[in-house]
Amino acid sequence: MQSKILHAFTIDVEDWYHGTKYVYENVRESKRLDYGISLLLDILSEHNVYATFLWLGKAAEENPKLLKKVASLGHEIGCHGWSHEPVCNMNRTHFKDETHRALSLLSDLTGKMIVVYRAPYFSITHESLWALQVLVELGIQYDSSIFPSKKGRYGIPNFTQSIHDINTESGSITEMPISINKVLGFSIPTSGGGFFRLYPFQITYWNFLSVERSGKPVIFYIHPWELDPLRPFCNQGFAESLRNKLGIKSTERKLKSLLEDFSFNTLSNVAINFKHIATSTPHIGKMSFMTRT
Ligand SMILES: [Zn+2]
Repeated sequence: MQSKILHAFTIDVEDWYHGTKYVYENVRESKRLDYGISLLLDILSEHNVYATFLWLGKAAEENPKLLKKVASLGHEIGCHGWSHEPVCNMNRTHFKDETHRALSLLSDLTGKMIVVYRAPYFSITHESLWALQVLVELGIQYDSSIFPSKKGRYGIPNFTQSIHDINTESGSITEMPISINKVLGFSIPTSGGGFFRLYPFQITYWNFLSVERSGKPVIFYIHPWELDPLRPFCNQGFAESLRNKLGIKSTERKLKSLLEDFSFNTLSNVAINFKHIATSTPHIGKMSFMTRT
């Protein structure tokens, strides 16, 4: 039986080679995005779920028909940057230029304003919070780029885990941090990706229940290649290749179980629903920050 909390189902749309050092020209014949997206569309349709597909600009440029098909089925289209470069590696001008490039292409292909964004690697950090103001200036209303704990080079420790509005000098933006679960004082990622492939399904189930008990939705994410056992692994080191292969054969089965046990919708609908429920509770708050250049 499904729970009443509406969780966000998001897909970071990139092919297996985006974000790697692999030279794209060598893998033209190995494009696999169509496989993963088609499978996801079938699974979402079977469960009557509308999701948010956050497209990398490069992936949209290479697959315009596929993007139009996703949009025509009623799913929300968001932006995942252009190049898959971490935001915290860019300066303000570079970030604004490449995000504008991606948003323009996505708007042209869908005929709609794009209002949802997620940074590659969840790479809006404490030092790059200025990016939120740039996103507001580009018309973004919902951001899901912050990992509210330390995560390698990224993450913001002790960042609020609830959906909340952030005021910038250019206006406000709704932040939807990636979900984590506190177990014995440790922050356990709950949101998907490699952890979803790695965990037995029961662990994910318990994590979802734990987040639900706090009255919050889970912001779940997955990549199309995580459902594709035939994706190539060339030019990856042993550790990276092993990490990317883990659990790939069971992802489809686990995903179907998740969709049967919990309710999902798009990022923007989950934010609107959460704000509506939270108007009389302290869950939704506002914070401000001064921009740094
Ligand atoms: Zn990505």
